[in-house]
Amino acid sequence: IKEAYKDRINQVENKVKSYITVTDKLADEQLKEYENKKEEILAGIPIAVKDNMSTDGIKTSCGSKMLENYNPPYDATVVEKLNEAGAVIMGKTNMDEFAMGSSTENSAFFNTHNPWNLNHAPGGSSGGSAAAVAAGECAAALGSDTGGSIRQPASYCGVVGLKPTYGMVSRYGLVAFASSLDQIGPITKDVEDSAILMNVIAGHDPKDSTSIKGKKEDYTDYLKEDVSGMKIGIPEEYFNLDFDQEVKDSVMAAVDKLKEAGAEVETVHMTDASYALAAYYVIAPAEASSNLARYDGVRYGLRSEQAADVSEMFTNTRHEGFGDEVKRRIMIGTYALSSGYYDAYYLKAQKVRTLIKNDFDRIFNDYDLIITPTAPTTAMELNSKKDPLEMYYSDIFTVPINIAGVPAMSIPCGFDSNQMPIGLQLIGPHFGEGKIIQAAYTLE
Ligand code: GLN
Repeated sequence: IKEAYKDRINQVENKVKSYITVTDKLADEQLKEYENKKEEILAGIPIAVKDNMSTDGIKTSCGSKMLENYNPPYDATVVEKLNEAGAVIMGKTNMDEFAMGSSTENSAFFNTHNPWNLNHAPGGSSGGSAAAVAAGECAAALGSDTGGSIRQPASYCGVVGLKPTYGMVSRYGLVAFASSLDQIGPITKDVEDSAILMNVIAGHDPKDSTSIKGKKEDYTDYLKEDVSGMKIGIPEEYFNLDFDQEVKDSVMAAVDKLKEAGAEVETVHMTDASYALAAYYVIAPAEASSNLARYDGVRYGLRSEQAADVSEMFTNTRHEGFGDEVKRRIMIGTYALSSGYYDAYYLKAQKVRTLIKNDFDRIFNDYDLIITPTAPTTAMELNSKKDPLEMYYSDIFTVPINIAGVPAMSIPCGFDSNQMPIGLQLIGPHFGEGKIIQAAYTLE
């Protein structure tokens, strides 16, 4: 299997550019090692991993010059679990620097191209993982999602992306962006693969203090076409937002299919998602400004050569190592956390966060799932969004889910008139991955 995927990478990688590193030699070593793992569920299956998850001895750049030459001395828990299950790590995929972005154009190295149309972006920040799956350069991939970075690129590339419940998958070894929002999840060709990968990567990890204790489910149990009696909410306030008519039509057609299959679908009322977006762009930069303080030229990665003293070394390292978007977030986050502004911005955003979480809890008292589009449009053209705020808007439907900590999946639901894929988002209550998988499987 690995050889077939390697051939495929050789054929298309120069056009799509999904990978920062193809771990060829190591993959061969892994294969030898897995001769005795033939019975495992992922034996010999080539999986791509986003370049913000630590891989022992394999470069983990996070799409940043800051970590361009960083080789972690250990595996992230998810990588360890993939290895135990017999998977072959095919390579490390391109991403927006430190996962900040929605098009993968913030990578410090190069753009990834959408396999459906090479002039378009694959979405982001897990654009490399989504493009690699869509282009057949791996059987499945891992992404990370802080505000939509698994689901939005999955939607733009016509594949399946699941952001699990916060705490469901260990973040140990994931380079931190915004720790209270970050979550690792699978990007796959179909819903069945998503369930299989979840079986491998989910579960409690003592190395991650926010990881959830509890019995692990078998997600493949939910692979049945049965939504009869399931109650699904359509939030009117989300559908009233400004977004493409073709996206709307395609999502509503899928909703009709669920109705035909026996689901009860009703309009529900929720807080306008723009409040979640505003809160996200205070909370995520605030946490990022704290998390990224470790890149000071002393502990990790890049150290500027141009410095007369230590203080200048800090400044120059950050100046040379971080790209514009990362610098913007550090400045916004530091500002929002500073004394005098903390109450007005950070504290307020946290209060909005609680309201949004309560809003989801209220709906899930009566409904099994909520359906929205994954993104307001299909994939943007490369270099088309110069205004950061315009880029942030592509996360409007995905961000509230991270704010509330609930799980959500993007699945393909059609194409627009330019033949670009459209995705819909199925949102479930905490630990509702099973229900999501069940409804998604029905729609496939
Ligand atoms: N696009 C969002 C951002 O730039 C989300 C990124 C993510 O989920 N990692 O923050």
